Amino acid sequence: MTREPIYSSNEEQKEDEVRLRPLRLEDMVGQQDVIERLMIAIEASKQRDDVLGHILFDGPPGLGKTTFATCIPAELGVNVEFLSGPTLKAPKDLVPSLTNLADRQVLFIDEIHRIPKAVEEYMYTAMEDFRIDLILGEGINARTHNFKLKPFTLIGATTRAGMLTGPLRDRFQIREHLDFYSLDDLTEIVVRNAKKLAIEISDEAATEIAIRSRSTPRIANNRLRWVRDFAQSRAQGKISIEVANDALEMAQIDCLGLDRQDRRYLDTLIRVCLGGPTGINTIAATMNTVTDTLEDEVEPFLLRSELILRTPRGRVATPKAFEHMNFEPPVNGDGQMGLFDGNN
Ligand code: ADP
Repeated sequence: MTREPIYSSNEEQKEDEVRLRPLRLEDMVGQQDVIERLMIAIEASKQRDDVLGHILFDGPPGLGKTTFATCIPAELGVNVEFLSGPTLKAPKDLVPSLTNLADRQVLFIDEIHRIPKAVEEYMYTAMEDFRIDLILGEGINARTHNFKLKPFTLIGATTRAGMLTGPLRDRFQIREHLDFYSLDDLTEIVVRNAKKLAIEISDEAATEIAIRSRSTPRIANNRLRWVRDFAQSRAQGKISIEVANDALEMAQIDCLGLDRQDRRYLDTLIRVCLGGPTGINTIAATMNTVTDTLEDEVEPFLLRSELILRTPRGRVATPKAFEHMNFEPPVNGDGQMGLFDGNN
């Protein structure tokens, strides 16, 4: 089950994604500390006429890892080759990319925590000494050849830094964690991207879209494109605060940025399970979905928004969740849950 996007076709989304992605570090909004450190490292490597050290980005999806992997090569004046961890099943899947790399080129591996051990170990010498062992021939004629690579920069991206092994993590000279965006930065991204999409938007509307975008640029882009579609078909192509509110309401995205799936989760936990503690399996079964979806796609934002707690006995809805879902919060002390629909 996918939750984003709420609009248009995949092809259109891909095209827009490219159109909206900043091309240089100076075009990126927010993440100022990270950008400053990277600019220093890039400048220093240029002055030394040396290859830039390998870089690891970690952080939740949609915060700019791929964007950095697009902007850094542009600053260096080199090309970038994009690979995805799950497609690298054996060392042979990596060899053509490595051997074809030009001097100082950037190799980007997304979801690098998902590469198998054999590929990971193969990368150690590639990263450290810019060489790999190639096995040529078969059976008794098989010979190992030491192949020298051009110096290159590996940029790894991961949503799960904890799943990376120590030896791989240690081979990255620069490690950066990407944080969620402030409301101001996200609003700025919405304003800039509205311009790129050639759509008029009021400041108030841009702020409202940012508020409902979970501090995440990719989600802000998706919300903005939906509001644009809505404005074009229903409101002469201008995004006022009323248009933004109507469009987001129609997409069932509420004032906290929760969507239908998030609210179904909270409704299950509060109304059906009396606020918990309830095991994730029970919630998933009641919602007729799988636990992975809930754990990966729904719970991170609910936890971050302090709407649920993850306790050893199961998930618990916080008073803020009760209030948001219009239920009376449980009464503490006398064991009474005090669950009354706020509308009654
Ligand atoms: P990730 O690789 O971390 O999943 P992306 O780099 O693909 O995230 O970011 C998704 C989209 O969000 C990008 O296409 C870009 O439009 C926007 N974006 C991300 N970070 C920034 C930023 N710092 N400034 C402006 N736009 C950004």
